[in-house]
Amino acid sequence: MAHTRDELRAALTPLRAGGATIALVPTMGALHSGHLTLFDMAGSLADSVVASIFVNPLQFSAGEDLDRYPADLDADVRLAGSRGVSTVFAPEVAVMYPEGYSGVHVQPGPLGDRLCGPFRPGHFEGVLTVVAKLFGLVRPDVAVFGRKDLQQAILIRNMVRDLELGVRVEVAPLVREPDGLAMSSRNKYLSPGERRDAAGIHAALEAADHLFRQGVSDAGALLDRVREVLGQHPRLQLEYAELVDPESLDALASAGAESTIAVAVHCGSTRLIDNLVLGAASPDPRMVPVDG
Ligand code: AMP
Repeated sequence: MAHTRDELRAALTPLRAGGATIALVPTMGALHSGHLTLFDMAGSLADSVVASIFVNPLQFSAGEDLDRYPADLDADVRLAGSRGVSTVFAPEVAVMYPEGYSGVHVQPGPLGDRLCGPFRPGHFEGVLTVVAKLFGLVRPDVAVFGRKDLQQAILIRNMVRDLELGVRVEVAPLVREPDGLAMSSRNKYLSPGERRDAAGIHAALEAADHLFRQGVSDAGALLDRVREVLGQHPRLQLEYAELVDPESLDALASAGAESTIAVAVHCGSTRLIDNLVLGAASPDPRMVPVDG
């Protein structure tokens, strides 16, 4: 495991000298089966896999969960090792931001103002800035992100394209718990009652998908169905639900192939996001959770 820049360099130099290609999987730790599928994909795309574990203060606003974000580095290192990760890079904040937060930041542009943007001011700027720094530190050939954070993955793709960063970006499928809830480190915050209700988020997306498969394509009707099912779960509070093109994130009036419903929902004090491709040929994979 590497905590410092020197330790990271010491781990990467022999790999590079041997001609190995490197895949990077950035994470905030508290690893679950969703993360592990990213490691698997990364291992299929490069000779060596580097996972970063860093809870990035720059992407949290005041009042968010930075101070209580779950952490279990020992378990994470074990899990990552068991899935072929050769180097875990787990820096302290002072290693990532030796000059503080006042340096150059990456601006997401207009796409950063869509979906989660208005509800998490500065979030995507923080994400893009730390990912750009990780790309600089690790210099990966390929980086793997998850479809659960669809807007984040698209913004990172756009950053690499617009700033000519020369990293191949791959997006892995969204992985769900057996009852359909999108796997997330934040699911650990949920009380048993909240956890039961949280499955209603996916049920709401599936209900809209069911309507779509019956021939309904009107955005208003599909999103009404989402709201209706969420409303059956008293602990769920909708933040937004939108029908979007999954590449441009443009809002759509009518659903077609690949159209995606993206939602953010508060479940008690926990904010959860999810998205579903309407009419997809294969459902999102469901996995037995790992506890580390
Ligand atoms: P995080 O540790 O939550 O910042 O996530 C690190 C990476 O794992 C991001 O690219 C996420 O999109 C991805 N990820 C998190 N949860 C899932 C999931 N349920 N399915 C697929 N990818 C995920």
